[in-house]
Amino acid sequence: MYNPKSLKAEEFINHEEILETLKYADENKNNLELVDQIIEKAKLRKGLSHKEASVLLACDNEKRVNEIYDLAEQIKKDFYGNRIVMFAPLYLSNYCVNGCVYCPYHLKNKTIPRKKLTQEEVKKEVIALQDMGHKRLAIEAGEDPVNNPLEYILECIKTIYSIKHKNGAIRRVNVNIAATTVENYKKLKEAGIGTYILFQETYHKESYEKLHPTGPKHDYAYHTEAMDRAMEGGIDDVGLGVLFGLELYRYEFAGLLMHAEHLEAVHGVGPHTISVPRVKKADDIDPSEFDNGISDEIFAKLCALIRISVPYTGMIISTRESQELREKVIRLGVSQISGASRTSVGGYSEKERPHDTEQFDVSDQRTLDEVVRWLMSAGYIPSFCTACYREGRTGDRFMTLLKNGQIQNCCHPNALMTLKEFLMDYASEETVKIGNELIKAELSNIPNDKVREIAKNNLKAIEEGSRDFRF
Ligand code: SAM
Repeated sequence: MYNPKSLKAEEFINHEEILETLKYADENKNNLELVDQIIEKAKLRKGLSHKEASVLLACDNEKRVNEIYDLAEQIKKDFYGNRIVMFAPLYLSNYCVNGCVYCPYHLKNKTIPRKKLTQEEVKKEVIALQDMGHKRLAIEAGEDPVNNPLEYILECIKTIYSIKHKNGAIRRVNVNIAATTVENYKKLKEAGIGTYILFQETYHKESYEKLHPTGPKHDYAYHTEAMDRAMEGGIDDVGLGVLFGLELYRYEFAGLLMHAEHLEAVHGVGPHTISVPRVKKADDIDPSEFDNGISDEIFAKLCALIRISVPYTGMIISTRESQELREKVIRLGVSQISGASRTSVGGYSEKERPHDTEQFDVSDQRTLDEVVRWLMSAGYIPSFCTACYREGRTGDRFMTLLKNGQIQNCCHPNALMTLKEFLMDYASEETVKIGNELIKAELSNIPNDKVREIAKNNLKAIEEGSRDFRF
């Protein structure tokens, strides 16, 4: 029944296979010989299967867990260096016909005001985001074929890309909207989107159906098979995710890796990113009502294991999490974070953070300038780079770059140049000072002499007013 190459949800995310995997993991969690073998395999940086990774997740031998953390940190350094890509979510509409029990946008919630941005309002939001320094957005919307049909989403994408305010520009729009048809994915691809993101929420079918009692999202197979339709529509960067807290984390972890294995087996390319959100408090949502909440410790272990199991996949963490935890998981493998997010429709154009239409409480409420300064002080390079997708390096072409070790001659200078733009256009005096020192020091980490020379010249040109250089 289990078949990673199948296009049927219940065959590539197979319940019996997950139960067997968890049983195998329990039986072997103290089998230190096997655990050591799996860790050795992970050191080859070619990833782990869901079965192998599940054994490591179950294992709580302190020495081995610390080894996993050290390896995740090392793989993170080798593959992603010290760059952290920055993005912000943009909420377009909270109209929704679904009944997701963990989300305040659910149809039956009558206390939350419903709002959908007009194109004029989209423009205002985008200008506010550009004025912070953002270049990469993830657009978010509820599912409502009448209020937010695909045409509305496409119109918003067009508006977002068209706005050039001062030196600002949104250069990559990722899209997080409900599962849709191949035809619609083709249209999104034509609109020039970056990654198509869709969280599975839970891989456990029975729970999925209970957590999504009404609306089109109730259909587990249609939702789970969405990434295959997206890829059929030509989108080759897709982003997976689980909403941790809904089901048993060990079940979700196995399901998530099986989904990645399925994409690789069928389309020859795994997920571009994996997101790791946890259920948060929201308008009429109390996270304690969900029994499967995970501790910060388990959360960190999950991040480390995702890092070593799918080393080529970017990992995203949002402002749902606190500064402290974000600091910890960035070290263990997270490669992309949101900054200064507002999860309400129209939130960026308001002076004060509005709460009325918020999707969930934001834990990390610092400004983008503060987040950038914090990252740099911790030794990271905040990157506003969007080059790969604009150069057509998506899907397996991006993976090839990563696998060939060319990242340091490409992503590294791109990160420095886009950081320089941020310093010139949006940063506070203190941030500029730290940033310029960091750029100076990091230039020497570009291995290729020629690339280093070009990067130096471009940095100078940015100082003199030019923008948008990339390798
Ligand atoms: N409507 C689209 C869908 O259903 O996939 C995507 C947009 S939805 C705004 C984005 C994600 O927010 C959901 O996939 C869900 O995982 C997450 N989310 C919903 N309620 C949440 C909550 N209370 N806390 C944290 N994340 C939540």
